[in-house]
Amino acid sequence: MIDYQNILDTIALSCSSATAKGKIANYIPELSKVDSSKFGIHLVDSTMNNFSAGDADELFSIQSISKVFSLTHAMSLIGEDVWKRVDVEPSGDPFNHLSLLEFENGIPRNPLINAGAIVIADILVSNLKNPKADFLNFVRLLSNDNSINYNGDVAKSEKETGFRNFAAANLLKSYGNLKNDVEVVLDFYFHQCSIEMSCVQLTKAFYIFMNKGVCQRGKTHLTIRQEKRINALMLTCGFYDEAGEFAFEVGLPGKSGVGGGIVALLPGKYCVATWSPGLNPKGNSKLGMEALEKLTTATQQSIF
Ligand code: GLN
Repeated sequence: MIDYQNILDTIALSCSSATAKGKIANYIPELSKVDSSKFGIHLVDSTMNNFSAGDADELFSIQSISKVFSLTHAMSLIGEDVWKRVDVEPSGDPFNHLSLLEFENGIPRNPLINAGAIVIADILVSNLKNPKADFLNFVRLLSNDNSINYNGDVAKSEKETGFRNFAAANLLKSYGNLKNDVEVVLDFYFHQCSIEMSCVQLTKAFYIFMNKGVCQRGKTHLTIRQEKRINALMLTCGFYDEAGEFAFEVGLPGKSGVGGGIVALLPGKYCVATWSPGLNPKGNSKLGMEALEKLTTATQQSIF
């Protein structure tokens, strides 16, 4: 039996005392208010045993981690049609780059970079009756937690400074790959990114990706094929131009956000979330990546 609690305690201790913690995202002004010394980690195993260390219960802005939820929601609504409007290849580019989008005629490389997630947001706006309320309910359902909510201040802050996302949405619109108004789609996108969750809540929500599409309450949300595809996308595209490094160091499918969160999973075994707000130059949590490298090294468990 692996002593997960002991491993998490050791990781939390070394991360809390680390001096190089990375840099907090400040291009969304509201995010720069977060305390950089925070560190949390939570792991749930396949039989729902829970292990926690540090600030694992504290809420933070999930940002791009929400792209996995929106993709899951879109796939459950329109299935294979998603792939007519977004590709499944790693971009090798930062999350907010625009050059490939122009080069490839408005079809984003994958649904986990910003341009791809904006197309997915457009699909949800078209297919949901009350997009923001319905999407929030979907996340609450996956997490089995009705307390999860948007942070209006973060959404507003990003709207005021999200010039690159406006550029991406306008470019998509010019290629006919955005059906709704730019303003409407981005309002939805900024809200999905502003959702606040803790490490504990994130592991609950991501449980379906380690459990063949079945959530903690036993409800099936995804087919096994869809679950495979989302995990494949997380592995190859979940960390943008650092996806190779994450596979190399950690060896798990996962997803990061500029709020400093990372969720990763080992199919059939466990799901783990970390939070440390300082980012490395590629926009992924510096200590979060280091913590997960320590976890897969100490447990000798990864997908490889
Ligand atoms: N809301 C952020 C943005 O669009 C999400 C980026 C991220 O977490 N990588 O820039």
